[in-house]
Amino acid sequence: MGEDKFDVIIVGGGLAGLTAGIVLAEQGLEVLLIERGDYCGSKNVTGGRLYGHSLEKVIPGFAEEAPIERVIKKERISLMTEDTSVDIGITSKKFSTEPENTSYSVLRAKFDRWLEGKAEEAGVMLVQGIRVDHVLTDEDGKVIGIDAAEEEMYADCVILADGVNSLLAQELGMKKELEPDQVAVGAKEVIKLGEEVINERFGVQSGEGVAWMAAGDPTAGGFGGGFLYTNKDSVSIGVVATLSDIGYSDISVPNLVDRFKEHPAIAPLLEGGETEEYAAHLVSEDGIYMVPELYRDGVLVVGDAAGLVVNLGFTVRGMDFAIESGRLAAETILKAHEMRDYSAKMLSAYEKALEDSFVFRDMRAYKGFPALTANRMIYKNLPETADEIVTKLFTVDGKQDPDLVSFLLQSLLGMASPAQLLGLAGTALESL
Ligand SMILES: Cc1cc2nc3c(=O)[nH]c(=O)nc-3n(C[C@H](O)[C@H](O)[C@H](O)COP(=O)(O)OP(=O)(O)OC[C@H]3O[C@@H](n4cnc5c(N)ncnc54)[C@H](O)[C@@H]3O)c2cc1C
Repeated sequence: MGEDKFDVIIVGGGLAGLTAGIVLAEQGLEVLLIERGDYCGSKNVTGGRLYGHSLEKVIPGFAEEAPIERVIKKERISLMTEDTSVDIGITSKKFSTEPENTSYSVLRAKFDRWLEGKAEEAGVMLVQGIRVDHVLTDEDGKVIGIDAAEEEMYADCVILADGVNSLLAQELGMKKELEPDQVAVGAKEVIKLGEEVINERFGVQSGEGVAWMAAGDPTAGGFGGGFLYTNKDSVSIGVVATLSDIGYSDISVPNLVDRFKEHPAIAPLLEGGETEEYAAHLVSEDGIYMVPELYRDGVLVVGDAAGLVVNLGFTVRGMDFAIESGRLAAETILKAHEMRDYSAKMLSAYEKALEDSFVFRDMRAYKGFPALTANRMIYKNLPETADEIVTKLFTVDGKQDPDLVSFLLQSLLGMASPAQLLGLAGTALESL
C-alpha cells in the first residue's frame, strides 16, 4: 500500500462515519476518517434522542461508559395554541427496560467525541479540521479517493458520511440538490438548569428524562414543531421549521425558538436557566423519497447523506438509522475487501442490506407521513379545536351547555368542512 493509499476513506465523523470506521478498523482495514470540525461532534446537531438499539450491535452495553444524558422514561406530545397546551403524556415502566429498547437524551458534542475515542481505539486514523473538497474518480468514473486541502488521498473505497447536504454525493451526481419542501431548519438551545431542578420540574428521578414534542404555536402555525429533551443538568429545546413554509408566519426560526421558550407551558420550566449553547442545522423531512443513489464503483453513501431520517411528529429518527447504515456499509466493504472487488455490483449488497434491515422497513412504513405533516390543519385548526374542546370539558361555571356530543360535532365542523376532515382522516390512515 502506498503512503497515501488506504483501504477505506470516510468523509465525515458523525455517527454514521464513526460507526463505519469502528467496524472496518476492528477487522484490520486501514481506515482514514476526515472530519471538517475541530473534533467529532463539534459541527453536529440533533434534538436529541438516541434510540440505542443500533449502537448496541456495535458496542454492546455502550450506555455504561458513553456520555448519555438521561434514559427517556416519559413521553409527552402537545398541541399548542398561543396560550394553551393540550398534552398527551405517558410515564411507563415499560419504556427503556432492556438496552435494545432504551432511548437516551444525548448531546452530540460530548457523545460523538466519545465515539471518536472508540474509533481511535479501534485503529481509525482521524484527521480533523480539514474539509474534503472533492471526490476523485478515474476515467471510468470509479471513485478512487478524495482531495482535501489540496492534497490527494486514495482508497479502494470511499464512504460519504458528510451529512444531510452532502455536496460530495451531489458532485458525483448521486444526490439531487435539496428542495425547500424536503428539508427543515432546526434551531436549538441547550439551557442549563441543574440536575435537581430538572428532576423536580419535570417530575423525574435522577438519570431519567422526558422527550416532549409539540405542534401548533411553536411554529406559529407553520409546518414543523417544537421539541424539548431533558439532559442531565440542562434541557435541549428547539424548533424544526420546514424551509418552504417558513414564510407562513413571517417569524424567523431563532425568534420561533424564543417564542417557544416563552410559551406559558414552557416558561416556568426554564425559569432561571442559562443558555449554554445555540445551534442550527438542516434536517431531512421527506423520508424515503430523499434516498439518493447509495452506491457506485468505489463509493457508498450513509446516514443523513443518504437521506435516512423520518420525522413523524411524535418522534424524529435519524441517529439510529445513521449508525445502522454505517455498520451495514462497513460489512459490505469487508466482503468487497475479501473478494478484492469494489465494483458497484459488489457494493450493491449495501442497498440490499438496508432493504432487509429495520431502516428501509421503517422508512417505507412511514412513507405517507410527509404528506400528512404537510397539512396546515395539523398546525392551525387542530390545536385551536383541541383547546376549545378540552377547555369546555374542564370548565364548570353553571352556564355551560352539558350536551357534549353536539358541542364536539360543532367544534369539529367548525375546524374544517366534512370533506376536509375526511381528507385528513384518509391521509392519516394512508400514512400508517
Ligand atoms: C434539530 C434536529 C433535531 C433532530 N432530532 C433527532 C432526534 O431526536 N433523534 C434522532 O435520531 N435524530 C434526530 N435528528 C437527526 C439526526 O441528528 C441525524 O440524522 C444524524 O445526526 C445523522 O448523522 P450523520 O452521521 O449521518 O450526519 P452528521 O451528524 O451531520 O455528520 C456529518 C459529519 O460530516 C462532516 N462533514 C460534512 N462535510 C464534510 C466535508 N466535506 N469534509 C469533512 N467533513 C465533512 C460534518 O462536520 C459532520 O460532522 C435531528 C436533526 C436535527 C437537525
